Amino acid sequence: MKTWIPDSRNFAYLNWKQVDALPRETTLLILPTAAIEQHGHHLPLATDTLINNFLLGHALEKLPPEMPVYALPPVCYGKSNEHIGFPGTLSVSSNTFMAVLRDLGSSIAKAGFRKVVLYNTHGGNTALIDVMARDLRADFGLRTFTLHGSGGVKYEGVSAQERAYGFHAGEVETALLLAAAPELVDRAAYTSNYIADVAKPQLLLPENAPATFAWLTADIAPSGVMGDPRPATAENGARWCDEAAAHLAAALTAMVRFGA
Ligand SMILES: [Zn+2]
Repeated sequence: MKTWIPDSRNFAYLNWKQVDALPRETTLLILPTAAIEQHGHHLPLATDTLINNFLLGHALEKLPPEMPVYALPPVCYGKSNEHIGFPGTLSVSSNTFMAVLRDLGSSIAKAGFRKVVLYNTHGGNTALIDVMARDLRADFGLRTFTLHGSGGVKYEGVSAQERAYGFHAGEVETALLLAAAPELVDRAAYTSNYIADVAKPQLLLPENAPATFAWLTADIAPSGVMGDPRPATAENGARWCDEAAAHLAAALTAMVRFGA
């Protein structure tokens, strides 16, 4: 897998004596979580994993070298059962996903580290990440943080429809891939579907509403895309990456300082 993580921030490139020498109380370990799942006809299965690494790598570049922050290898396999029926989707159950995070949290705590952040870029994992963060705090005493996607940046220039319902393989993900790995984007194969319409508010919505329906991609998006990739540009992708990286770096800095 491609990586944008600076070598000096890559936990797996250390040997155990170097790990042993890290300051246990202040070191922040980042556990990235993503997915290997269908992303329509035009984006690779690893899209969420590549975006995670691309944004995180640029965020880590912005931190002062003396700040003790390291990225662990990502948990690439996520809970992706919303994309079952599309070849290439490799999903793990919620129990398996939670067990992997719990076991890694246990290893981190046994090594004497105090701080871990779960950095997630796959929507299907989000609810599980929030549950696991509290469990790692309660069960192992770890100071646990969560961080999602862009770190709160609102990608500028995206339409209201795309912002609300561009869930998957739409403009933002496509633009980020055009900036990160354009050779993996098939620009001749764009398709578009939407799960709902912002101009026609309904009582039952797919997400972020008081009353929702549980959706599967196959129910509403034959091509596997939920959103519209056509307006995506590499220029916007690069700009959005830089803005997200600044927010992510600020959040990581706050986590290093938290409780210190
Ligand atoms: Zn995605």
